[in-house]
Amino acid sequence: MQYETAAQIRQALAAGQTTAARQTEAYLAQIAKYDGVYHCYNTINEQAAEQAAEFDKQGDKEGPLAGVPVAIKDNLATEAMPTTCSSKILQGFISPYDATVVQKLQAAGAIILGKTNMDEFAMGSTTETSYTGATKNPWDTGHVPGGSSGGSAAAVAAGEAPLALGSDTGGSIRQPCAYCGLTGIKPTYGAVSRYGLLAYGSSLDQIGPIAHTAEDCALLLQVIAGYDEKDSTSKKDVQFDFAAALQNADLRGKKIGLPLNYLGDGLDAEIKAAILAAAEQFAALGAELCEFEMPMIEYAVPAYYIIACAEASSNLSRYDGIKYGYHPERFADLEDLYLTARSEGFGLEVKRRIMLGTFALSSGYYDAYYQKALKVRALISREFDKAFAQYDAILSPVAPTCAPALNASLDDPLAMYLSDIYTVSVNLVGIPAISLPCGFSAAGLPIGMQLLGAHFDEEMLVKLAAAYQQKTDWHLKKPQLKEAE
Ligand code: GLN
Repeated sequence: MQYETAAQIRQALAAGQTTAARQTEAYLAQIAKYDGVYHCYNTINEQAAEQAAEFDKQGDKEGPLAGVPVAIKDNLATEAMPTTCSSKILQGFISPYDATVVQKLQAAGAIILGKTNMDEFAMGSTTETSYTGATKNPWDTGHVPGGSSGGSAAAVAAGEAPLALGSDTGGSIRQPCAYCGLTGIKPTYGAVSRYGLLAYGSSLDQIGPIAHTAEDCALLLQVIAGYDEKDSTSKKDVQFDFAAALQNADLRGKKIGLPLNYLGDGLDAEIKAAILAAAEQFAALGAELCEFEMPMIEYAVPAYYIIACAEASSNLSRYDGIKYGYHPERFADLEDLYLTARSEGFGLEVKRRIMLGTFALSSGYYDAYYQKALKVRALISREFDKAFAQYDAILSPVAPTCAPALNASLDDPLAMYLSDIYTVSVNLVGIPAISLPCGFSAAGLPIGMQLLGAHFDEEMLVKLAAAYQQKTDWHLKKPQLKEAE
């Protein structure tokens, strides 16, 4: 039997009802059956079955992820498999080291199933900018799974992994979770080491869990969080303990802020209704719901895209056709080598962002764009500080619509950027947020909500989400999967 959550697998393993090998084989069989349809993975770990058998012989059965298969996003460095960021420029690239989170997963007893598809270099909201082709939404193959961690989310939704790692620079964990009916956490900046995460926007990027439940997210986040001397932006003395947060569903005394201007124009009516119903559910659990306004959100998308593209243009300068991956066969001289490698190696969206970022950082425009964006970022931070002085969490939509249809987004990149309105301010400010399912559209697509918390208040978010999931069953619904023809 294939168990659906990490918590179930651990329990069954501890009771001697299953083994790591049996679970891993069940998930590999599911991948073999469905990945041809959904394309969640770029690479399958050929050693997974063997590693699981080895774990059954001599692994630490007490480990927090003992025998649990996990999928990881293809921007996390692994020695044993290619790390490509779904880009042509990194096809076949093998990292000489494992990311810190990968080492931590293995130390906790997890079995890595493979590397999941994503938007190229995590730039996008649909997983359609991948060099290896789009991932399909398990709820409806005519729709995108969201992005950029769309492969990780679709893998969990399609039962091709019980648990996955994604990364979130401006919503890339939370938005695919909303589109695929899953739960995911974007941790506080500095809570999880970024060592071995191929950088997009270094001041925004965080690695986090994607799962069916808040409980599973907590399990995985507890394993990957913590100080790492290899990442100078990781925070000392971070130690989450979610046990208490998961036990007590009593929300009396908790204050949840509901920013009314988040529910205005541009938000799909079905999503608005689902968010308001969730607010009522929180009130029924004892929380106090407080309406207020967050006017600065209007400036979050422009500030985010200036900062993210500026950082990306610098981070991606390392891909020069020499050090990593793709190396063109024909070129005239050194400059032509750079030019050819980058022209042929990067996709359109990545090029657009490198150009935007280079422009924003150029000497004539630095003050007008980059410097201005940093000021806006500071103002948004102040607005959140004020909110968290009054509320324990903020309730918000994740995206203005449900999952868009395939091939409907890339022709109008500005409209796609605007759909990040509810997610990007969280990254600008560095706070944590949890995304979880709260309904379905009439067309049968999942609807998500998110709860935002103060810095390092992940335990509060898990407590609120777990309490909600004890009373509701949105997170238990499963899509009807299609087999390959
Ligand atoms: N959609 C956003 C972007 O394209 C967020 C991506 C992310 O979080 N990696 O930048």
